[in-house]
Amino acid sequence: MDYSSLLRIDKNHIWHPYAPAIDKKNNFLVKNAKGVYLYLHNKKKLIDGISSWWSVIHGYNHSILNAVIRNQLNKMAHVMFGGLTHRPAVELTKKLIRIVPKGLSHVFYSDSGSVAVEIAMKIAIQYWFAKGKNLKKKFIAIKNGYHGDTWHAMSICDTDTGMHQIFKSQLPQQLFSPCLSTEYEEDKMDKLLALLEKEYKSIAAFILEPVVQGAGGMKFYHPGYLKTIRKFCDDYNILLIADEIATGFGRTGKLFACEHAAIVPDIMCLGKTLTGGYLSFGATLCNQEIAETISNHKPNILLHGPTFTANPLACAVSKASIDLLLKSNWQKNINRIENHFKDSLSELKSHRNVKNIRMLGGIAVIEMKTEIDIATFQESLAKHNVWLRPFKNIIYTIPPYIISNKELNLLTDGICNSIYEVYGER
Ligand code: PMP
Repeated sequence: MDYSSLLRIDKNHIWHPYAPAIDKKNNFLVKNAKGVYLYLHNKKKLIDGISSWWSVIHGYNHSILNAVIRNQLNKMAHVMFGGLTHRPAVELTKKLIRIVPKGLSHVFYSDSGSVAVEIAMKIAIQYWFAKGKNLKKKFIAIKNGYHGDTWHAMSICDTDTGMHQIFKSQLPQQLFSPCLSTEYEEDKMDKLLALLEKEYKSIAAFILEPVVQGAGGMKFYHPGYLKTIRKFCDDYNILLIADEIATGFGRTGKLFACEHAAIVPDIMCLGKTLTGGYLSFGATLCNQEIAETISNHKPNILLHGPTFTANPLACAVSKASIDLLLKSNWQKNINRIENHFKDSLSELKSHRNVKNIRMLGGIAVIEMKTEIDIATFQESLAKHNVWLRPFKNIIYTIPPYIISNKELNLLTDGICNSIYEVYGER
């Protein structure tokens, strides 16, 4: 099929994420990808500055990850996990348990980040059910948070400011802590404490994205809040779920963002980077006490079992991706990326359309004063050989960790030049 037919069928029949089905703009057609580059049908090559939505940390088409998938494919692409097991799942689990915050000892594998969150919520409710506390069914989350697009994951996103507002009346009503800030503010925690004091008997778990809130607005907050929330959860018999789907595996400068506050959650969700960006996959981890409590109380089982649980290809490539990460000098790489962002993007601070610039680890965020015309901005970026996916008034970059200094220069020059082109020089 020629390229124009591909684009015509795409435009007429395929519904893309967060996009209209009708009257939509043309998508960029990617022929292949290698390293940090996306190669388009029109011979352009774009640096992927957002690692395919946080996931491709080792770059595309990685020879080792490719070989691991091919090798596993020759053994088996898939086998059901109910009553069966396999080496890739066991080896991945051994590895994961060794690197996550100490105490998370049991892993449930699923198909995506949102599903990993749903499972975390079910685990929390089942845990309290097993303990005879049937009233503990609600969740508390932080304002501006984001935890996925499935039904109960939507209920713990910020349904006032987030994208799921139209579903709000149909979703289970959850509780929300005040927005958190980069400076630690005691009165926010006083407000939270008052809410917990009133509601703790109905709360199963507190769910949060540690330190960096992603799709809810790319906001960072002081790790001290995590310490306080961990203490409140202990004091009020509330489980703590860390959604590390975006922050896990080094992105914030720590292997897991919980480490910024040296806290251990009771339940943790992983996805995105887990497979190095190769396959859709999620993992929900919990501690021994939760696993034992659920297993020792009728119905003794976790009431969840997706068809593709622990897919062997996904398990094998995840283990290989973690091995690659641990063998690489990832911390040095993240520092290098962070320093480059500080040097090259700070000039934007004084731009009249820029509201705020923030950086942490391999993340740089440019918050504009007004909503961005995404298609116009992406066209401009493409002229400068860069691919990003801004949303609302947020331009952000989270490049693959393997990006070279030269490529980093191209990326940040492209971002600055597109801002000047679209918004004017100053
Ligand atoms: N939690 C967080 C923090 C996320 O960033 C995302 C994805 N943007 C999800 C959950 C949902 O993951 P998925 O898109 O794989 O369902």
